[in-house]
Amino acid sequence: MKVGILGATGAVGQKFIRLLQGHPWFEIEALGASERSAGKKYKDAANWIEDVVLPDYVKEMTVKTCEPSEFSEVDFVFSGLDSSVAGVIEKAFASAGIPVISNAKNYRQDPTVPLLIPEINPDHTELIKTQTFTKDGSGWIVTNPNCVAVPLAISLKPLYDAFGIEALILTTMQAVSGAGYPGVASLDILGNVIPFISGEEPKVGPETRKLLSTLEGATLAKPHFPVQATATRVPTINGHMISVTAKLENPPANVEELKAAYNDWKNPIADLDLPFSPKKLYKLHEEEQYPQPRLHADAENGMQLHIGRLRKAEVFDVSFMAMAHNTIRGAAGGAILNAELLVKKGFLK
Ligand code: NAP
Repeated sequence: MKVGILGATGAVGQKFIRLLQGHPWFEIEALGASERSAGKKYKDAANWIEDVVLPDYVKEMTVKTCEPSEFSEVDFVFSGLDSSVAGVIEKAFASAGIPVISNAKNYRQDPTVPLLIPEINPDHTELIKTQTFTKDGSGWIVTNPNCVAVPLAISLKPLYDAFGIEALILTTMQAVSGAGYPGVASLDILGNVIPFISGEEPKVGPETRKLLSTLEGATLAKPHFPVQATATRVPTINGHMISVTAKLENPPANVEELKAAYNDWKNPIADLDLPFSPKKLYKLHEEEQYPQPRLHADAENGMQLHIGRLRKAEVFDVSFMAMAHNTIRGAAGGAILNAELLVKKGFLK
């Protein structure tokens, strides 16, 4: 299938270009960015920050403006657009009959738009049928969650299914790549921790509750547990770490039951053979010093979810560390997995 990338020059856009090299189903056909970049060769428009060589054919592609008429050859687009412009541009693409698989926050809470993690809520794709961007249903939007909600929801799902969740308290340790490029000033972050990330905390609860919702007909029945989130920026490059403490509805008797919840959980897409699906979704680390972003964020091509320090809590019921690669599992890689699921389900064809 021919794909376009909107926001192709940004940090997430570059990750799409890197991850789509050699993809068995998807081929990059068109790249879009702002007026600042449009008309230039990609090699001149983008400050390439990936640690692999920029592919030759991408170097020479001319960056387009993000107008649907410029993308008439593509089957769908991935969006890594800045949220200040994603709302209008993504709507224009969907209305022109071009499906949008987005990383931006703008449509995540729209009741007709799936906020999708294929392993967690694959049935939410049915919401696409309720979208009205086009009369014939050819244009629609699917979003992936914020790069904290991704590891949080994946790490909670087996606990939610086995024990129920009553309340969460969490603190994030977020890598600098999560702020895009050039992102956080080096003098602010080197040798430092910043105890606040603007706009981050309010997204965590609503996105996690939407992800763990049950599809009832054409609407979602959402859980109501409160989430107290503190978002911090730390001087790691990739991999968001979260310290989570959860109050459960029916707490397990011991840590072995907690581990069993992960080991016994059935991944609903395990048999679909999606190219970006990790072979083993959960890596439960027994060593108390793991997971660590630098050692583990790239495991299974950056698509694995790491859990460590799984233990009974003195306050509430269970505490653990969750970690995943923020620009792969939490952004571009997650979006590619979403597109693969949408192919298997027949929405993309
Ligand atoms: P970024 O590095 O700042 O890139 C933003 C992209 O948007 C650039 O390609 C930029 O093009 C383009 N853009 C800006 N204004 C535009 C306009 N008026 N018209 C068309 N294109 C325009 O940001 P990022 O970190 O890649 O994030 C992209 C999106 O993904 C954001 O919505 C972000 O919240 C979301 N996200 C990021 C992460 C992460 O870990 N970084 C994770 C999950 C979700 P120019 O180069 O031409 O300016």
